[in-house]
Amino acid sequence: MRRSTFLAALLALAGPAGVLHAQRSVAVPPRLIEDVRYLADDRLGGRMTGSPGADSAAEYLARRFGEVGLQPSRNGWFQEFTVSPDAPGARGGRLGSGRGRNVIGILPGSDPELRREAVIVGAHYDHLGGGEIGSLNPDSTGRIHNGADDNASGAAALIQIARTLAAHPPARTVVFIAFSGEELGLFGSQHYVKEPLYALDNTVAMINLDMVGRMRDRKLIVYGTATATEFPALLDSLNWYQGFDLRKQGDGLGPSDQSSFYLAGRPVLHLFTDLHEDYHRTTDDWQKINFEGIARVVDFTAGLASALGGRTTPLTFVNVPQPTSHATADPGAAVTSGYGAYLGSIPDMTSSEGGVKLMGVRKDSPADKAGLRAGDVITRIGKADIADLQAMTNALRSFAPGDRTDIAVQRGDSTLTVQVTFGRRN
Ligand SMILES: [Zn+2]
Repeated sequence: MRRSTFLAALLALAGPAGVLHAQRSVAVPPRLIEDVRYLADDRLGGRMTGSPGADSAAEYLARRFGEVGLQPSRNGWFQEFTVSPDAPGARGGRLGSGRGRNVIGILPGSDPELRREAVIVGAHYDHLGGGEIGSLNPDSTGRIHNGADDNASGAAALIQIARTLAAHPPARTVVFIAFSGEELGLFGSQHYVKEPLYALDNTVAMINLDMVGRMRDRKLIVYGTATATEFPALLDSLNWYQGFDLRKQGDGLGPSDQSSFYLAGRPVLHLFTDLHEDYHRTTDDWQKINFEGIARVVDFTAGLASALGGRTTPLTFVNVPQPTSHATADPGAAVTSGYGAYLGSIPDMTSSEGGVKLMGVRKDSPADKAGLRAGDVITRIGKADIADLQAMTNALRSFAPGDRTDIAVQRGDSTLTVQVTFGRRN
């Protein structure tokens, strides 16, 4: 998970408690423990995208996908993408080859018609390597960040969910994706959305597992619950079995891979067992993982994917306006919060163009109302030329809520200027 999550999760702590039931007992598959330990071992060096350790992790995940009954796509197990060292998320990192690889395994649907449609279950497997980027202890640069919770936990869960579903494939195809490039700026998921194996129109939903290894007090946070009208009731009915203290958060934009799919107009859910003091530090190790908690998340997610894969009616997508709580839980939080002036633009951290390219805008935000949209490249705000994200942050800090100014953007071959009225962050 990317760093701007911190505040979001703190606010999530204050959410209302769900109804509690006694939890069923759960068996922890031995391979679940082995998979987390393998991925979070020092020998993989923290799995920085493009590093030999990340390559080893990718090979391992492909082999495990095969063992539990998934198939490679026509193009094989891997989907490659390039990480530019000039992209805002990647600057200062040791990118190795500069190439990332998503690992994709397919479980074909059991219905001859519905198998053309897909449910995606994803989890990123990359992490911070030696902590050159994204570490919360800057003095630990050069020491391995193993990322056992973030996100060996989700990647290992993915394998077990696949194993469960392979025994009873749902009507729709389930596409399992272990993403890379997440910590650097959602590179892997952005790439998949541009080159999907199943058309996005035929992709009914995306479920993301990012940091599911530290369950405490049965608490499970689910983001994105407002992105399809059917989600809350479905989650509650599945939870009747599991007895989680389920914290439903509506927003589909968070600092992890579900955002890429949400901005592409798909219903999304992100499962998360909350932050802890080892987050993005060298101490996020496998010894601290709650494996029983992961096993419960596996059961729950398998049920969820099965329900989504088998339902006869489509989900109803909702483009959720800016949420009233955890408003900083978007990749552009650092940019859009400033000192109170709110724009609602979401920068594309994978772009190496000059200016600030937008991955999207929040619905009903000042950026949305001004007519800005995905793909626009902001080159000027007021009198300030915008060369990069830092320049944009500085420019936004000079404005207050209610201020009006011009923003110049490059859209395709044309340059246009829009007028924006900054809002206030909730
Ligand atoms: Zn992370």
